[in-house]
Amino acid sequence: MRTPIVAGNWKMNKTAAEAAAFVNAVSPLIDGIDAREVIIAPTFPALAATVAAASGSNIRISGQNLHWETSGAYTGEVSAGMLVEIGCTHVIIGHSERRQYFGETDGTVHLKTLAALDAGLTPIVCVGETLEQREAGNTATVLTEQFTAGVGALQPGQFAELILAYEPVWAIGTGRTATPEIAEAAHQQIRALAADRFGNMIAEGVRILYGGSVKPSNFAGLLGCPNIDGGLVGGASLDAESFAALVRA
Ligand code: PEP
Repeated sequence: MRTPIVAGNWKMNKTAAEAAAFVNAVSPLIDGIDAREVIIAPTFPALAATVAAASGSNIRISGQNLHWETSGAYTGEVSAGMLVEIGCTHVIIGHSERRQYFGETDGTVHLKTLAALDAGLTPIVCVGETLEQREAGNTATVLTEQFTAGVGALQPGQFAELILAYEPVWAIGTGRTATPEIAEAAHQQIRALAADRFGNMIAEGVRILYGGSVKPSNFAGLLGCPNIDGGLVGGASLDAESFAALVRA
């Protein structure tokens, strides 16, 4: 039995004060819903305030990125240990915006995933094809490559600790959600890759989130698919009512 996850990726939105106000607004709306894991990923400067506001609730806090080294001359970067110290339990790795704008590769995804696991953070590792790749019929190849190079070399025990997110790039922030059929086919493929590499038992236990224009109106349909274990949500996670509706879906 895989507990569903609703994870909000706030990207470069919300100040510390706005983040705390959001948590204060959303907490009563989702109080008592135990059958979900709820995660919020604020910006680095808002982490401390969000952690403090979420203290005593079921909301877990995630970083949006990290560096794979523990410290050193990496201006602008943040280490896994720093995220742990501030109160994070999770970290998003390899989001398509990081790949597109900041040069992240499957190789850096691999290094970051190891660093997160070493520090005791749960990585949320993103994979997904661009529109061009889908239209060229390359979705399965892209997912295989990203999976293999990003997380395929982990030890089975390490892989069992992480969360995967299938985020088709063409669906992120576009309002163009993948249909449940399209998303389920990709999730099925990713679970099959996990089974091939790590065995059925581990593959059946790993949570695979869908991300890409998830809204309260389309989430239940996606969650109804056997291999979709929740959502990694951008835009619709910024509003407390809408986020609470996703948690209740
Ligand atoms: C995301 O940023 O991971 C995402 C899926 O964004 P949106 O929900 O806005 O498409």
